[in-house]
Amino acid sequence: MGLDDDARDYHREEPPGKIEISTTKPTNTQRDLSLAYSPGVAAPCRDIDADPSRGYEYTAKGNLVGVVSNGSAVLGLGDIGAQASKPVMEGKGVLFKRFADIDVFDIELDLDDPDELVTAVRAMEPTFGGINLEDIKAPECFEVEDRLREAMDVPVFHDDQHGTAIITGAALLNAVDVAGKSLDELDVVFSGAGASAIATARFYTSLGVPEENIVMCDSSGVIGTDREGLNEYKSQFASDIGADTLEGAMVDADVFVGLSVGGIVSRDMVASMADNPIVFAMANPDPEIGYEDAKAARDDTVITATGRSDYPNQVNNVLGFPFIFRGALDVRATEINEDMKRAAAEALAELARQDVPDAVVKAYGDQPLQYGPDYVIPKPLDPRVLFEVAPAVAEAAMDAGCARTEVDLQAYEERLEA
Ligand code: NAP
Ligand code: MG
Repeated sequence: MGLDDDARDYHREEPPGKIEISTTKPTNTQRDLSLAYSPGVAAPCRDIDADPSRGYEYTAKGNLVGVVSNGSAVLGLGDIGAQASKPVMEGKGVLFKRFADIDVFDIELDLDDPDELVTAVRAMEPTFGGINLEDIKAPECFEVEDRLREAMDVPVFHDDQHGTAIITGAALLNAVDVAGKSLDELDVVFSGAGASAIATARFYTSLGVPEENIVMCDSSGVIGTDREGLNEYKSQFASDIGADTLEGAMVDADVFVGLSVGGIVSRDMVASMADNPIVFAMANPDPEIGYEDAKAARDDTVITATGRSDYPNQVNNVLGFPFIFRGALDVRATEINEDMKRAAAEALAELARQDVPDAVVKAYGDQPLQYGPDYVIPKPLDPRVLFEVAPAVAEAAMDAGCARTEVDLQAYEERLEA
């Protein structure tokens, strides 16, 4: 209750909410105002009319992300609707600003129909340098994002899908290294077949896990090829393994990825996995199996990750979206594609292999942070994440030909560090 009441006070303290608009140019004199608005403003309008790309030169578009939700799958709160989702979307704006100095308009849309959602977001392209879709429920979120990506020339990124995929992807790259396993031989079991699980499974295949090595379970158990009425997203990962339950599927698996509900994995289930198993239990607030139970399940090394800040290897989406958008915006990318996502995951993985600065160690209570089973992903408050991930994403965008402008990477990195 303490935290709840503190959060209420935090939000309602004058002025209510967590964000405001401030101006970036002088507004002191009559002349300033004539430049900011009529009649002076007509000159940049005419230039943009002649060449729409000059919107980046004359307006805030290039540093402005729309955080768009219909409130249909908000945190663990479910379909609480657009209005009730606004504190979350404002909060996302706070994180964009705090971690990557990106400005956000939070846009809560009272719309359930995917067609209407697509039409509404599509029409906002002139305003934004990128769109972060947020907390839109599965399976509609897949279709909405696919259609918007197709229709829009600015990045569209559903963070609940890809943020999770990228950060657990980074964790997987390092966990495989630490455990002495190899991506192309991994047997991976998913618990959950929703927004985050489907995107994560797809991303793992893009990192090199064979699709046929992935078994996916939902609330009815293993998604078998004979299951009727599967949506196209689940059917991509339907398999025939001779087991119907998560428990059966986990026997001899190398990796468990939990993006479902808390408490459904036992020590015995972890004990039944292959040597040195990888257990990413990310249901929030309670993981599928807790850190201590997973570790205690067996004598060899279990590499765990959870969504929790009070245990090692926290999968926190804030390690991704601010820096991925930073890199994408800074080259005026037209999309965030698979290469850019992979570059982000690889940069995060690489950073975790480096020595951690004292200031970061201090910020996390002086616990040793050294590459190994309990440190396969960087910490969210590590300032180096910005300098590593944003340039990696910008470079991947330039290489993939989806950057509208080039940056000199060395100078860019120095600018970010300044
Ligand atoms: P979602 O789209 O609602 O998907 C939830 C999935 O869990 C559904 O496929 C559902 O099955 C399945 N499920 C429900 N009960 C289950 C059970 N008893 N056994 C196996 N599967 C079960 O939700 P989401 O956005 O993907 O998020 C899923 C979970 O992951 C949440 O707890 C969320 O907080 C967590 N998460 C954590 C992070 C992080 O740590 N950074 C990031 C993203 C998500 P049906 O399809 O049969 O309904
Ligand atoms: Mg979310």
